[in-house]
Amino acid sequence: MSCLFCKIIDGSIPSATVYQDDLCYAFADIHPQAPVHLLVAPRAHLVSLDEADGEHRGLLGHLLWAAAHIARAKALGKGYRVVINTGDDGGQTVDHLHVHLLGGRSMTWPPG
Ligand code: AMP
Ligand code: ZN
Repeated sequence: MSCLFCKIIDGSIPSATVYQDDLCYAFADIHPQAPVHLLVAPRAHLVSLDEADGEHRGLLGHLLWAAAHIARAKALGKGYRVVINTGDDGGQTVDHLHVHLLGGRSMTWPPG
């Protein structure tokens, strides 16, 4: 098993845990792009959003719920951004589905 985020989730690579439950694990991004930059990943390995199908609908909803739950806990009431980079053109660099939660500064649009 060579997946970086699977190793983070199973604890063999250290990370700064922010939240966890039976379905997901959230931790600090190692190269933060905002004052708050967290990643929410499913415990089960799934390469990307592009690999999600009907059986993953509940899990996808849970990941977004977890991001909102964490945002509330981090007092990001002014707003925040949730991003799922998908595939090469989407800028995905780690092939284990994850939701970026970015906050603590004003975001710009469009993204690069
Ligand atoms: P993406 O480019 O959307 O696939 O996002 C991957 C993210 O994982 C990037 O923002 C990286 O900074 C982050 N990352 C890579 N290695 C680690 C690590 N060991 N711990 C925490 N975050 C990491
Ligand atoms: Zn994985």
